[in-house]
Amino acid sequence: MMDMHCHVDLYPNHQEILNDIRQSNYYVLSVTTVPSAWEGTVKLTEGLNHCKTALGLHPQLAHQRENELVLFDKLVDQTRYIGEIGLDGSSGYKEHLDVQLSVFKHILNKCEEFDDKILTIHSLNAVEQILDCLNQFPKSGTPILHWFLATKKQVFKAAELGCYFSIGPAMLQSSRGKKIISWLPQDRVLLETDGPFAKVDGKVLFPSNVNLVIEYLNQQWDMETQSVLDRLSHNLVTLLSSRK
Ligand code: MN
Repeated sequence: MMDMHCHVDLYPNHQEILNDIRQSNYYVLSVTTVPSAWEGTVKLTEGLNHCKTALGLHPQLAHQRENELVLFDKLVDQTRYIGEIGLDGSSGYKEHLDVQLSVFKHILNKCEEFDDKILTIHSLNAVEQILDCLNQFPKSGTPILHWFLATKKQVFKAAELGCYFSIGPAMLQSSRGKKIISWLPQDRVLLETDGPFAKVDGKVLFPSNVNLVIEYLNQQWDMETQSVLDRLSHNLVTLLSSRK
């Protein structure tokens, strides 16, 4: 199985997260929030099979770390995986939307120089702007919308743009989250935790906790566990073979 959005470097106890990745043997996309964290995070997970480090600049940090775009551009050809990137229109961040937009567009534009990037994207309270940007940079790569909170119409629009959707145990904690999951095309669904930020019952999530989502999809899709696993594995294989 997989965790397509996990902040491995930000767990307080690195041994604990590394053990979980090793024991589960899940495919983990280890996202970073600033380019200066990329090399250290690569080293942290060295030797772990199926653990890939993404190069990112988080929208909540864009206004403070815009200067790291130079480093982003320098590192961008060293990894296929980009994230966490995106936009955040929530209170406390929406006043920086201009700089967030310029950072996000810079990154998408840079990624258009390649044909194989996979992007994990934050879209909290900025879904329309995210979809507009993806529409504007169609060759930037294959987008994974992480913890996507949107309307049904926006879900369809995103699917038309070729987006995947990564869903985690925390999304099952709200009826809104579950409703959105019911709209997702099954062939675009991936799993994530967003640990250590995301929690369930006050407990920090680890990659192995994606099992909670598999159990849920069992019922939601009315499928045997094995069929859910096959579906998700197939989605991951398709994602990893995508080019654009
Ligand atoms: Mn995150």
